[in-house]
Amino acid sequence: MSLSVYDETNIFARIIRGEIPCNKVDECDHTLTFHDISPRAPIHVLVIPKGPYVSLEHFADAASAEEQIAYFAAISRVAKMLNVSEDGYRLTSNTGHNGFQEVFHLHVHLMAGEHLGPVRLPKQS
Ligand code: 5GP
Repeated sequence: MSLSVYDETNIFARIIRGEIPCNKVDECDHTLTFHDISPRAPIHVLVIPKGPYVSLEHFADAASAEEQIAYFAAISRVAKMLNVSEDGYRLTSNTGHNGFQEVFHLHVHLMAGEHLGPVRLPKQS
């Protein structure tokens, strides 16, 4: 999978187009935030740009300044909205094969609601 060639059939593109539902947390002209379908923390949401970007690098190279500002503003707004700023949270953006990216539309996982432990978990055999 190339990290700059966007596949319009990916699941998040379908959510943005309204073809499949999501449990929405926040939306603006350039971003959408919704609950992860299989949460790995008490709070686990995905913040995505509405534009067709595969990864953070693709987004940084190809998105407009307005889209980039809106994306980081959305992450901050959602953290405040979910009331996790004080206790803290984790942002993760899995990228490519080694990053175990499963959906090739840029997304940041925002996880919170408990002490999340170290970033790297033991490898599953
Ligand atoms: P990745 O591994 O690409 O960083 O994460 C993709 C995330 O998307 C996973 O945490 C997975 O649970 C979530 N996901 C996959 N399909 C759907 C879906 O149809 N709806 C929602 N809300 N989340 C999804």
